[in-house]
Amino acid sequence: MDLSNLEKVLEGEPKYRLNQAREAVYKNFISDWSEATFFSVELREKLNKECPLEIKADVLVSKKEDSVKARITLEDGMMIETVLMRHKDPLRPETSGRNTVCVSSQVGCPLGCLFCATGKMGFKRNLTSEEILEQVIFFSRYLKKITLSEVEGFAISVTNVTYMGMGEPFLNYDNVLDSIRILNDYKYFNIGVRSISVSTAGIIEGIKKLSDDPLHINLAISLHAPNNKLRGELMPINKKYPLAEVLKAVDQYIEKTKRKVMFEYVLIKDVNDSEEHARELAKIMNKKLYFVNLILYNAIPPQRDPALAGQAFEPSTTERVKKFRDILEELKIRYTQRYRFGDDINAACGQFVTSK
Ligand code: SAH
Ligand code: SF4
Repeated sequence: MDLSNLEKVLEGEPKYRLNQAREAVYKNFISDWSEATFFSVELREKLNKECPLEIKADVLVSKKEDSVKARITLEDGMMIETVLMRHKDPLRPETSGRNTVCVSSQVGCPLGCLFCATGKMGFKRNLTSEEILEQVIFFSRYLKKITLSEVEGFAISVTNVTYMGMGEPFLNYDNVLDSIRILNDYKYFNIGVRSISVSTAGIIEGIKKLSDDPLHINLAISLHAPNNKLRGELMPINKKYPLAEVLKAVDQYIEKTKRKVMFEYVLIKDVNDSEEHARELAKIMNKKLYFVNLILYNAIPPQRDPALAGQAFEPSTTERVKKFRDILEELKIRYTQRYRFGDDINAACGQFVTSK
């Protein structure tokens, strides 16, 4: 898909034509300009040639069919991945649930967190805002094709977007925010700001900029360690932005926006999952609008990356997770545990693109 010539192709047309074209792509999710019957046949043909809508992707569906992963090949041949997670709401079966798309913001990532498959790839380039939107468009089209009987209890369109795929969104701040504005636009995707979340490894400039932005989307911080030393070992970026300074920026963000902030904590066996770690975590998370999101570590099989052989991390055992949670509960820390989607399709950060 490439819309970079759209304005040029429609240059001689009345102005509303451009809005019509954007609506067709961002709201009606057409996959070929021939569907845009409000344009002349010649214009449709020209658009198909100069602004192709086809999205090249390989798709993996999990056995439970509650998650779908797509590896999209961009115009320059680079690959990114995006995941659709479909939640039914068991407490409210009469409602239609949620469809969350997890999007990538960069090809690869320069931050090299030790536990992350994307980090191992290194950094290739930033995505344009259109390439970010392309991922949501891909699943919007996918959901449009599913018949009603298949969606019973599920939402029929994309309801939530999380910037938790490959890459660090705050190192591509402007394109990420541009894409969010279009997702939020009622003329296009019409996804509410409360249903859009951005996760950062702790880029302080980004947290500050977001505090001043009128778009009050949800902010998540990748914490993964309860102290500066361990965080620095797992996440090299912690040397530039130490834990205490990240937390200070978050407090300023909360003061300005009055929004809750989620702290992601991946439980890695014998690395950050001891009782001591839980107690340390409780000490720094004991603030009003903080909450912890526990994530089970998704192992990166060492055979896929020989460089990892010496430091292969493993997910925490069920007993250790339980103990960890018990301590957070005892110390009255608000936390949630992320439901595991699609273990069988490597539904974690960067694991599809990096799989051979
Ligand atoms: N770069 C941003 C956003 C993308 S990563 C960030 O790091 O916040 C989305 C989340 O998945 C982050 O919390 C990241 O730390 C986590 N993650 C990375 N690798 C993982 C793995 N192998 N298993 C589980 N979670 C992982
Ligand atoms: Fe980059 Fe996030 Fe992966 Fe760290 S966890 S390497 S910041 S994508």
